[in-house]
Amino acid sequence: MEIAMVTGASRGIGRAIAIQLAKDGCFVLINYRINEKEAQITLNSIVEAGGSGELLPFDVSDKISINAALRQWKEANVGKYISVLVNNAGIVKDNIMVFMEDEDWDSIINTNLNSFFYVTKPLLQDMILKKHGRIINMVSLSGLKGQSGQVNYSAAKAGIIGATKALSQELGKKKITVNAVAPGFISTDMTSHLKEKELKRMIPLHRFGKAEEVAYLVSFLASDKAAYISGETIQINGGLYTR
Ligand code: NAP
Repeated sequence: MEIAMVTGASRGIGRAIAIQLAKDGCFVLINYRINEKEAQITLNSIVEAGGSGELLPFDVSDKISINAALRQWKEANVGKYISVLVNNAGIVKDNIMVFMEDEDWDSIINTNLNSFFYVTKPLLQDMILKKHGRIINMVSLSGLKGQSGQVNYSAAKAGIIGATKALSQELGKKKITVNAVAPGFISTDMTSHLKEKELKRMIPLHRFGKAEEVAYLVSFLASDKAAYISGETIQINGGLYTR
């Protein structure tokens, strides 16, 4: 049984991915920062569907807390390794740059970009030794086209797209694929304040996406069927033209 870790799996897209990967047969480590109640709901849904997993809380922006949680997990699971990593946790702190506080720049870069390095690096050695792994990074339309009011978020997500391309080249010979998924507007807590009625007019499919629809794409990238796809950023945005 493959072991998958999904960061930010207590809610939204991460929850849908965790449930889908469990349906695909993975044992799923459900990461979250503070929302244990919601993380438990994710785990309950997995168990109800006949799958298995466990909660693994840590703050993805805090290297020390990540290393401690992963060390503890490793000690309790000797001989096992995490072969599917979904770097999904993310936050927004929007403002036009002229009014952006230093803290809003720093926290977005730490949570959405530095987290990629902090969480992924400790898992690489096992994937390399086993010559198998899937790394899937959740980015955004904002990281491809840039979004006014999101200079911090666009920079972080564009950084991950570059890191995805570079890491895929380092790991290809070890049969580890590294890809990014770039959603457009998906209905979650993150987008609940947006005016969907107005925004959907510019989306060819005329609606926001569902978290489950993003999860199907991640499920495919994590599967054997996607063994020859690496270094890609795949958009899932209802047809929004972003380049
Ligand atoms: P969401 O509903 O706001 O959920 C965010 C998740 O990330 C929660 O599980 C949260 O945990 C976790 N999280 C936040 N900060 C964390 C930290 N420091 N450490 C660990 N976990 C943390 O967000 P979402 O809409 O599902 O977004 C998921 C990903 O998709 C993000 O990377 C986002 O940038 C990207 N994305 C979303 C959209 C969209 O339209 N929704 C579009 C493009 C890209 P707690 O519950 O503990 O707070």
